[in-house]
Amino acid sequence: MAKYGLLGRHIDYSFSRGFFNDKFAREQRSDVYVNLDFPHLEDFTSWFKNQNELQGFNVTIPYKETIMSYLDELDPIAAAIGAVNTVVIRSKDTTNQSIKGYNTDYLGFHQSLEHWGLSDLNKALVLGTGGAAKAVVYALQTKGFDILQLTRKAQKQDKLANASLDGSKHQLIAYDQLTVKDMQKYRLIVNCTPVGTFPSVDQAPELPYDALGPEHFLYDLIYNPEETEFLKRGREAGAKIKNGYQMLVLQALAAWELWQNSDV
Ligand code: NAP
Repeated sequence: MAKYGLLGRHIDYSFSRGFFNDKFAREQRSDVYVNLDFPHLEDFTSWFKNQNELQGFNVTIPYKETIMSYLDELDPIAAAIGAVNTVVIRSKDTTNQSIKGYNTDYLGFHQSLEHWGLSDLNKALVLGTGGAAKAVVYALQTKGFDILQLTRKAQKQDKLANASLDGSKHQLIAYDQLTVKDMQKYRLIVNCTPVGTFPSVDQAPELPYDALGPEHFLYDLIYNPEETEFLKRGREAGAKIKNGYQMLVLQALAAWELWQNSDV
């Protein structure tokens, strides 16, 4: 029996536990997937030493960035993104374990865009600057998108303004700096904030929704509710809409592939 899990805080709601245990039942595997609910990560190393059956785990809020300092190796893409959501344990010998971090949020988002078919788009508005936004920005950059990213925090804008001097087509601005012209130019809009998640389902990111039309594509990483207020406003304006469920499944399957491939 192999054990897998989700490392996070307050994760009773977890999609992953149900998804993987259903998969194991369907495939008649004796494996288990458990929630690893840590109030803080300081105890991680001593706890991990005794986890003989653990083959790998996912990482969620708030540890996608802090987990990196506990790893032996980091996949170059996860390093470039600056966030890890999947960890592979490479040895079953607990005295000689090596743990490596990956980012499958990036893979899940990237693959889900292929499914959506946005071939004529090359400009995206990304809402938020957290772990998921970093993976989304990276995926969009590999697809050649120009990115305008929105944040509530002024000091973050300064940081990225310096980075964008290197010639990358990536700008970070505050919500109130966004113009209607920007809305017309950036036709793919990706919500990487938790705004609109159950139970606060009547909330939506602060955007000039009047500027939306049938030429827009609205992608919400949130999957509960199925149609957020953000997506509803897009649909009512005639835009194409997509929620985060497919990305969620694809990132989980990508994690599974990594855990099954001992050469990674
Ligand atoms: P996170 O690290 O906490 O970051 C969320 C970001 O959203 C923050 O950095 C913040 O950016 C912005 N934000 C937070 N509260 C806000 C508010 N009240 N108003 C406006 N902006 C706010 O979370 P995350 O891991 O990136 O996840 C973000 C969302 O994506 C969550 O809903 C999560 O469930 C979802 N997600 C879905 C998938 C999937 O597979 N579908 C995968 C990963 C995440 P600023 O401070 O810069 O404004």
